[in-house]
This record gives sequence, structure tokens and C-alpha cells, in this order.
Amino acid sequence: MYGSIEAGGTKFVCAVANEELEILERVSFPTTIPEETMGLVIAFFQKYAAELKGIGIGSFGPIDIHRDSPTYGFITSTPKIPWQNFDFVGSMKKAFSLPIAWTTDVNAAAYGEYVFGKGQGLSSVVYYTIGTGVGGGALQNGQFVEGFSHPEMGHMMVVPHPDDSFKGSCPFHGNCLEGMAAGPAVEKRNGKKGQDIPETDPFWEMEAYYIAQCAYNTTLMLSPDVIIFGGGVMKQRHMVEKVHQAFTKLINGYVKTPPLADYIVTPELEDNAGTLGCLALAKEAKLHS
Ligand code: ADP
Ligand code: ZN
Repeated sequence: MYGSIEAGGTKFVCAVANEELEILERVSFPTTIPEETMGLVIAFFQKYAAELKGIGIGSFGPIDIHRDSPTYGFITSTPKIPWQNFDFVGSMKKAFSLPIAWTTDVNAAAYGEYVFGKGQGLSSVVYYTIGTGVGGGALQNGQFVEGFSHPEMGHMMVVPHPDDSFKGSCPFHGNCLEGMAAGPAVEKRNGKKGQDIPETDPFWEMEAYYIAQCAYNTTLMLSPDVIIFGGGVMKQRHMVEKVHQAFTKLINGYVKTPPLADYIVTPELEDNAGTLGCLALAKEAKLHS
């Protein structure tokens, strides 16, 4: 069996799966303080301790992914104070002597789509989540793109829409993509949550303009095979078409991408991408241990 932990800012989703990565049990715990949440996580996996061969973790961050770093496996400078400098991998290793795969929540979702979803059979896959925040992860030939740390593509700068007076809600950058296009920015501008804004509201054109800038930047930097946009805000299914239109204007014929219907897409796995990605990474970790 393999285990997965999708560690999000509001909840932790844990699951176990068989060798074929079919999910056998899945549970969810609120993200409170490490002592409490991790107690529940560890108790959940203890039931399966005898059968588990590896655990994959996709965590909110920033996280330390450098194996030679003294703080490898830690959540680092998160604004969630109780989780700052929390030794996530270490606390799992203490409870279970198993191979542990460790990456960001969005990398895990990217991996899920790469193995089982819209990235299957492709070599370069980029995944963004447009939710409470904006996060991005990229895979090149099955490896995560990273350097001194994991990418933070959700904070790329975007050009404000000419009709947008909103200054952006990112405390670090103001009008970065997250500051302009994540769920909380949608809510601040409109006085209501994205799920309560009708499809016909002209605001969605503005939202699409920002997401299209993200696709534009991603295209020019990585020329990937596919760009997948998931997360709560993309549950507005009309958005992807609006993003295609805005992207076509922005790119202005400069590069010839794959057909947009296959190139800028929503996730195939919906909300399962993260869990399936963690499970696939757990299986990989076992192979390489
Ligand atoms: P998280 O990012 O916390 O993991 P989500 O990806 O579900 O969770 O994102 C939550 C955000 O998405 C909230 O700001 C919420 O208002 C927004 N959201 C959720 N559903 C929709 C929807 N159908 N349309 C637009 N926005 C939505
Ligand atoms: Zn930012």
C-alpha cells in the first residue's frame, strides 16, 4: 500500500491506495496546529503501518526541498505561524520508517495530471491552481523544475487590466497574479465569492485576462506541451474559453502553440490530482529507496 498526504492551508487530505494506486480510504482533517493535525494524520496511517511501502506528501509552503539542507522536509516561512519551521518529513519519519516523497501541493497535483490526467504521455507539463492562492508547478521529463528552491510561479507580475482599479491583495507584491486573480482578490473586487458571481458577469473577462497573462508568460518561458489550470476559481467552466481568447490576443501570433483546446486546459482529475500525484510519488520513492 501507498499513503498520500495533501497538506493544504485549510485541510489535510490523507489517503491509502493499493499497488495499482486505487484509493482504498480517504480522510480529511482540518489544518489547526501541527501537534493536533499531525496526531490525526499519524493515527490514520498507523492502521496501515504493516502494509505501507511509502508515503507521498504534497505540502503548502514554502517548503525546503533540498536533500542536503539541515532543514530538508520542513515547512519554512509560511504565514501560518504554528507551522513555521515545522519538520514535516522528520515527524513522519519518526512515526514510520518508510520512504517519504516530499514536494509542494501544486507539484503533487502536477504530477497527478502527468501520470493519470491531461499530462499523460507528454514530457513538459505545467499545472497552476487558482484557488485561495495561486501556485504553479512544472515537470520536465518526469522531473520537477527547480533550482535553489521550488518555483513560486503564482507570484509572477501581471499587467493590470485597463478597467481594473483594484491594486491587488498580495502583501508582498500587490499586483502579482495571486494578488490580482486568486479567490480572495475576486471576492474583494466583487463583494462576493467567485462561486456566487454569474457566468455572464463581465468581471470574468478581467479574470481571464490575468490567467491568460500567466499562460503567455509560461508559454514564452517554457514552451510546455500543456498548461493545466485547476483550483476553485477554474470551476467556472466558461473561463477556459475566455482564457483562450485573451491568450490569442496577447501572444499575437508570435509562437505557434499546440491547438488551444489541448494546450490550455482544466484538470482531468479535478480535485483528485493532488492525492493521485502524492500516491504516484510515494510509489516512485519506494522504487528509489
Ligand atoms: P484552496 O486553494 O484553499 O485549496 P480551492 O482551490 O477550492 O481551495 O479555492 C478556493 C477559492 O476558490 C475560494 O476563494 C473560493 O471562493 C473560490 N471558488 C470556489 N469555487 C468556485 C467557483 N465555482 N467559482 C469561482 N470561484 C470559486
Ligand atoms: Zn505575490
